[in-house]
Amino acid sequence: MQQITNHLPTAELQALDAAHHMHPFSTQSELAAKGARVITGASGVTLRDSEGVEILDAMAGLWCVNVGYGREELAEAAARQMRELPYYNTFFMTTHVPAIALSARLAELAPGHLNHVFYAGSGSEANDTNLRMVRTYWAEMGKPSKQIVISRWNAYHGSSVGSGSLGGMKGMHAQGGMPIPGIEHIDQPNWWAEGGDMSPEEFGLERARQLEKKIDELGEDNVAAFIAEPVQGAGGVIVAPDTYWPEVMRICRERDILFIADEVICGFGRTGQWFGSQTLDLAPDIMTIAKGLSSGYQPIGGSIVSDKVAEVIGATEFNHGYTYSGHPVACAVALENLRILDEEGIVTRVREDTGPYLKEKFEGLMDHPMVGEAKIVGMMGSIALTPDKAARARFASDAGTVGYMVRERCFANNLIMRHVGDRMIISPPLVISKSEIDTLIERAWQSLDEGMAAVKDAGLWTAG
Ligand SMILES: *Cc1c(COP(=O)(O)O)cnc(C)c1O
Repeated sequence: MQQITNHLPTAELQALDAAHHMHPFSTQSELAAKGARVITGASGVTLRDSEGVEILDAMAGLWCVNVGYGREELAEAAARQMRELPYYNTFFMTTHVPAIALSARLAELAPGHLNHVFYAGSGSEANDTNLRMVRTYWAEMGKPSKQIVISRWNAYHGSSVGSGSLGGMKGMHAQGGMPIPGIEHIDQPNWWAEGGDMSPEEFGLERARQLEKKIDELGEDNVAAFIAEPVQGAGGVIVAPDTYWPEVMRICRERDILFIADEVICGFGRTGQWFGSQTLDLAPDIMTIAKGLSSGYQPIGGSIVSDKVAEVIGATEFNHGYTYSGHPVACAVALENLRILDEEGIVTRVREDTGPYLKEKFEGLMDHPMVGEAKIVGMMGSIALTPDKAARARFASDAGTVGYMVRERCFANNLIMRHVGDRMIISPPLVISKSEIDTLIERAWQSLDEGMAAVKDAGLWTAG
């Protein structure tokens, strides 16, 4: 890779960054003390920092760079569209070709009855749209009391006030007056951490039936929808036991509530199908999309809406929208991204070739003495760190202490792997090759070895 040298020395960049740039989900003072890693370029699955070091990005940025970095076609699509029509809105009875073309393509790719797209600039915005859309749907259906949306603890649905409230992150709720009223949470299907003495199958049913109990407690006439990620991403790549989803689908059907599948991570090939709902056989009324929709090359999100819901919403004026809803440049890039995913057979490869290869290698990490569980669907995976596998024990230290130590070792070994508490997670670009998968696993193993040594040195190898 060619090194970019036309920037200030790293230390100066870090000082300016800490002085003027407020970072999301960071402790700014800690960042100022340590200095952020400055990323200057990328190609394929590899990032390059300001010191010229190459890093394997096993997170695809934030779960989004599905086709990998450095795709010339996407840059071209953006430049072409900027010259043609850089911006126009889709309010007030106007439209443009990129929004039309992308909507038609998404309707083709999405499961049968999902044929209508409402655009947003991000996943958070799209979930804000969904919150208003499901409530409006029931009001228009003559059932205005159906307003509550049920979600799950440890879900992630975005960071705006609406979507952050839909999410179940207690650390987020603790700041800024969330959750807003009208949102209820049930427990997540995380068997490793919360399953106790139950079998995964029993536990999956128990967690699904919490939805039924919650609806009955609130009254079916007061519940608009259930929202969930097919596989929880930011919560730590939590894969529900096999019994969970069929039961949830039964309950949504019988109780007459809408189901919103948040496909922001699971969509666009991540699970080996176009959508996680196809992999897990879910029947959503609305799917939230963002991230892999444009492989992160442009900020764009949206809601793919069923015929049933779109017809009702379409009969009235929906007083909602964003300046950048259906932004032409973002739509043009997304459309080109979908072409690449399709024509290069990337989704099929994840399902039939590189996905199964990654699964085998990733599950091999279970042989490491610190790894108690390895879960992977397509190209999103997680391992649980534990001092005692048989007991599925937590570490005695605060959740995340050990995970952070391992993450730091990964960083030092030029591998980006995230930690969520004491789970380590991956979500690499879908174009990752088998030899790059081998490198990923080698670096992960080495980081686990070094992390375990550091944990023992620090006297933290104790179950809590
Ligand atoms: C990232 C994410 C969001 C929020 O998307 P933004 O583009 O960051 O607003 C919503 N839902 C899920 C499942 C996500 O992973």
